[in-house]
Amino acid sequence: LTNAPVPAAVTPTHCPYCSLQCGMGLRAAAGADGGLDVVARDFPVNRGALCGKGSSAPALLSRGLRLTEPLVRRPGTGLLEPATWEEALELVAERLGSVRQGYGADAVGVFGGGGLTNEKAYALGKFARVVLGTSQIDYNGRFCMSSAAAAHQRAFGVDRGLPFPLEDVARTGCVILAGSNLAETMPPAVRYLRELRENGGTLIVIDPRRTKTAEQADLHLAPRPGTDLALALGLLHLVVAQGRADEEFIRERTSGWEAARAAVMAHWPELVERTTGVPVPQLRDAVALFCDAQEAMVLTARGAEQHAKGTDTVGAWINFCLATGRAGRPLSGYGCLTGQGNGQGGREHGQKADQLPGYRKLADPAARAHVAGVWGVEPDSLPGPGRSAYELLDALGGDVKALLVMGSNPVVSAPRAAHIEGRLRALDFLAVADVVLSETAELADVVLPVTQWAEETGTMTNLEGRVLLRRAALPPPEHVRSDLEVLNSLAELLGSESAAKGFPVDPEEVFEELRLASAGGAADYSGISYARIEAEDGVFWPCPEEGHPGTPRLFLDRFATEDGRARFVEVAHREPDEETDADYPVVLTTGRVLAQYQSGAQTRRVAELNAAAPGAYVEMHPLLAGRIGVGDGDAVTVTSRRGRATAPARVTGAIRSDTVFMPFHWAGEGRANNLTNPALDPVSKMPEFKACAVRVERAGPA
Ligand code: SF4
Repeated sequence: LTNAPVPAAVTPTHCPYCSLQCGMGLRAAAGADGGLDVVARDFPVNRGALCGKGSSAPALLSRGLRLTEPLVRRPGTGLLEPATWEEALELVAERLGSVRQGYGADAVGVFGGGGLTNEKAYALGKFARVVLGTSQIDYNGRFCMSSAAAAHQRAFGVDRGLPFPLEDVARTGCVILAGSNLAETMPPAVRYLRELRENGGTLIVIDPRRTKTAEQADLHLAPRPGTDLALALGLLHLVVAQGRADEEFIRERTSGWEAARAAVMAHWPELVERTTGVPVPQLRDAVALFCDAQEAMVLTARGAEQHAKGTDTVGAWINFCLATGRAGRPLSGYGCLTGQGNGQGGREHGQKADQLPGYRKLADPAARAHVAGVWGVEPDSLPGPGRSAYELLDALGGDVKALLVMGSNPVVSAPRAAHIEGRLRALDFLAVADVVLSETAELADVVLPVTQWAEETGTMTNLEGRVLLRRAALPPPEHVRSDLEVLNSLAELLGSESAAKGFPVDPEEVFEELRLASAGGAADYSGISYARIEAEDGVFWPCPEEGHPGTPRLFLDRFATEDGRARFVEVAHREPDEETDADYPVVLTTGRVLAQYQSGAQTRRVAELNAAAPGAYVEMHPLLAGRIGVGDGDAVTVTSRRGRATAPARVTGAIRSDTVFMPFHWAGEGRANNLTNPALDPVSKMPEFKACAVRVERAGPA
C-alpha cells in the first residue's frame, strides 16, 4: 500500500495487531457481502505502509474464522456446544460465585491481554478488584515487555516504551538495536532505520541470528543467547576506559554513577569476549560508532528483555545511555519496542497484578485512595497485589480454582506450555472471552464470543505512548457482544444492578472514567478525549489537562524521579538460569516470524498468512546439522528439561553454531514453549523465554 487518496466513506482506524498500531482506513468492499477493504491513510507512524498482517486483517471478521455464538461444555458429551448468552453468562456468574463463596475471593483468577483496548483493560482490572474482590489478576504483557517496564521505572521513575516519537530514530546519529528483528515484527518501522542511514547515521544490531534486520546493519554483534547483559557492561567498561563518559551530564542529571562505574570495571573486554563470543574489535567498533555520533539511542526488544535477568540487562543499557549522556536530550535516549498492540496502554490501566489505573502502585495508600474514590468504594476494600502471570498460571488447580481469561492464549504463549495446559485443565472452572476458538478457549467450560477491532470503538496506546482511537467500521455478527458488555452483565449477575452501573458498555463512558482514575498518575490521560484524539490523530501522554499539548518527548528537562535525576543501577552479569551441559548441549532461543502474530490464534486462521508461514521450524547452523546428521527440511526433535517439540530443520549459516531458534506461534508438536524455561526475573517476573538448554536430534519414527 502507498499513500493513496482516502475516499470519503472510509473509517480511519488502526491495525488489530502489533504495538506500531499502523493507521489504516476501512471501507465497504465493492460488491462483496458486507466485507471490508483496507485502504492506506497517512498516519504519521506508518505513512500508509502496512505489513501483510495488517493488510489481511479484515479476513478475521469472516464468520468462518471466528466465534459467532457462546459455547458451553455439556456434561453429557463433554463437548463445547452452542448456548444462549443468558445461559452462558449465568453459568459463568454461578460458577465464579460459588468458587468465591467456597474458597474465598482469591480462588478466582483473571487473566487479561495486551491486545485489549485501554477501556477493556481498565474495566477488567476494576471488575477483578471491585466485583470479584480478587488480587489474582495479571495478563500476558508480563511475558512481553515487563523487564523493560521495570527498568524504566527504576531508572527514570516512569515507564513509557519510547520516550520519544519514532520519527526521532531517523534523525539521530547512531542506533543500537538490541534483540529486535524489526524487519519481521514491524516492517513499516524499517523505514526509520533506512532513513537513519540515508541521513548518515549508523545502525548496530545485536542478535545471535543474522536476521533481515541485522543484514541492514553497519555492525552486527552476535552474542551467545543470555549474555546481552555482559555485552552491555563490556561496552560501558570501554566507555569508561577510553575516557568517553559524559562527566558533566552524569554530574548534573544522574545519581548512583560511582557504584555503577565500579561494577563495570570488572567487565574487561577480553572477559566479555569469552562470555559473549563477540570479538573485542567489534566491541570497540560499537563504542566508537555510538560515542562518535552527536546523538545516539539504544532500543531494546524481547531478545534482550525476555530473560531471568531482563530488568538488569535493560538497566545496563540505560546505564550505557546515561554514562554517555544519551538520555533526556533531543534525538537521544533509551527506548523499548513494545510488542503487543496495546502493550503500552495494557500495562497502564490496572490489569497488572501490582497496579491501578494511571500506572499507580496498588500498594501505595495514596493511589488506592484516589482510585477507590473514582470507583466509589472504600480503599480498604481493594485487594493487595497478586501473583505475576506465570505464578498465577502455575497456581491454577491449586489455590486458584476458577479463571476468567480475556483476550489471551497462554496454552501457546506461556513458558513450559504443556505444564500450563495441564494447570488449565485442572481448574474447577474456566471461562474464556475471545474472538476465535484459541487453544485456551478449547479447554474452557464456557466460551464467550466477543467483538473485535473493526466492530468496536476504543483507544489503544502505541509503543510511543501515543493514545489512538479505533472507530467501529461495521456492526458485529448478531450473537457477538463486546467485552465491556460481558463485564457489565457479570457485574450485575455477581453483584447487583447498581454494581453494573460501574461497568458501562459505552467505551467513551469508560474512557471518561479512566481519565479521572489516571489523573495525577504517571500515565495521566486526563486531558485526552475521544474528540481530541480524532482531531489530532493521537495524543501523547502524559496529558494532564485539556489545554495541554501532550508530551511526545519525555525527560528533556528532568527525569520523573523525585529529585529529577536518572538513577544508575549497579548490575553484574550472571549466566542464564539453565546452562548447557553434556545432556543439553545447545541453547534454544525463540521469537517471531513476519506472517504470524504472537500465539498465532488470529493469524494462523488467515489463509494468506498461514500459507506464508504454515508451521514451526528449527533454525540451525550447518555445523550443528552435520553433527546430528540432518539436512534442510528433515524433522528434528528438540528436547529440554521440560518437554519436547518436533519440527523441520531449517539449515542456515545465519545463526550461531551453538544455538537453535524456533518461532513460538504454533500449538501441537511444534509448540516451542514446551521447551522454554519459566525461571523468573526477580524484579519484573519475566520468564526466561530467550535462553534454555536443549538437545537436538533427528526425529525418530512417529
Ligand atoms: Fe499491523 Fe504491526 Fe503490521 Fe503495522 S507492523 S500493519 S501494526 S502488524
